[in-house]
Amino acid sequence: MSGQMDHANLFDDARTRLVEVCQAIEIQGDARERLMQPSLSLQVSVPVRMDDGSLKVFPGWRIQYNTTLGPAKGGIRFHPDVSQEEVTTLSFWMAVKCAVVDLPYGGGKGGVKVDPKKLSKLELERLARGYIRAIADVMGPERDIPAPDVNTNATVMGWMADEFDHLARGKVPAAITGKPPELGGSLGRVAATGRGALHVLDLWAAREKRKPEETRVAVQGFGNAAYHFARLAYEQGYRIVAVSDSKGAIYSQDGLDPDAIKEQKERNRRLHDMVYCDDSVCVAEDVEKIDRDELLTLEVDVLALAALEDQIHEENVDEVRAGALLEIANGPVSSRADERLEERGIPVLPDVLANTGGVIVSYYEWVQNRSGERWSEEDINQRLAQRLERQSELVFKRAEREEISYRRAAYRQGIERIAHAIELRGNCQ
Ligand code: GLU
Repeated sequence: MSGQMDHANLFDDARTRLVEVCQAIEIQGDARERLMQPSLSLQVSVPVRMDDGSLKVFPGWRIQYNTTLGPAKGGIRFHPDVSQEEVTTLSFWMAVKCAVVDLPYGGGKGGVKVDPKKLSKLELERLARGYIRAIADVMGPERDIPAPDVNTNATVMGWMADEFDHLARGKVPAAITGKPPELGGSLGRVAATGRGALHVLDLWAAREKRKPEETRVAVQGFGNAAYHFARLAYEQGYRIVAVSDSKGAIYSQDGLDPDAIKEQKERNRRLHDMVYCDDSVCVAEDVEKIDRDELLTLEVDVLALAALEDQIHEENVDEVRAGALLEIANGPVSSRADERLEERGIPVLPDVLANTGGVIVSYYEWVQNRSGERWSEEDINQRLAQRLERQSELVFKRAEREEISYRRAAYRQGIERIAHAIELRGNCQ
């Protein structure tokens, strides 16, 4: 899409929000300086023996961004566009979001520049294990705890956890979260990002006195977070009028059934060649195929962005006709576009609050692993809801009190907490 930034500018763009917050809340100079750079950037090469006997070497990174509040925490992304700048930016956002929802973590992120769709299952497993061998020295339950992100899932985390156990010569389940429940993963983790985003939307909708049935939602993306968000929102009565994947989008005025779409996707159909009624699995009665970028400009009540970063930018922001934006992906709106939305009075429920469900349940997984407990899914979902309610209310009230956007309020909440912790650690390092 034209107008998108290359990754080199992504980090600078993300830091403009930090600079703005530091000025607004008078953060001490030391804390500001500490927050401008990652604490650790590790670049690795991951050699993988391919099924045909050849060797391929994939570049990878693990970045830790300010670990004042606790060990680094964040996912691992497998994607052909991964770069050091992207991973650094994502780790910065992890540091902010963990602080916004009061988790005892710093930021972390990892990535491998690879197209996982081109790998066989065994090649993927070798890549996952090789990546962990490459970063194991900086990992651990009290140092840095990876988790799933774009194109990685519980299966991949299971391989990674197993590799780490081999290296550690013992069982260290708290070193990685998002594992399959059989290997110590938490119940509720897979749906947590989508569930959390829906909680934040619900809390906002309740303040606006808006009912789910009256709310038409377009969802960009149909990966794990997007699917669970759409499914749970649909169950709650929201009208999911459009969804997209990387190739195309579908739209229905009456609303789509996310489970039917998932079933069809599992039969290897892309959205744009989806059959709308197949063996009685009906996506919707009256479906239109639209361009994936057209979804971003639909006249809907909520545009939920659940794909990748920098999807709404200077070039397309003025075409956005949604009543509000919900950021389920990390960084889907550039800072310039964000300013435009603010000027136009379009509220944005920001990523650093709206997509924290995943890392919150990762935290519950880590706590369970460290204490040897297993909590029920009901208990986990309840804890998630309570935490999000408490922290979202603080953000919403701050936005109201200080007459600022939700994003500014969330950043102030997070950065303030990190900055206080930096000050409390003392100045003589
Ligand atoms: N990758 C997810 C995120 O961006 C989850 C991170 C985690 O569970 O540590 O928030």
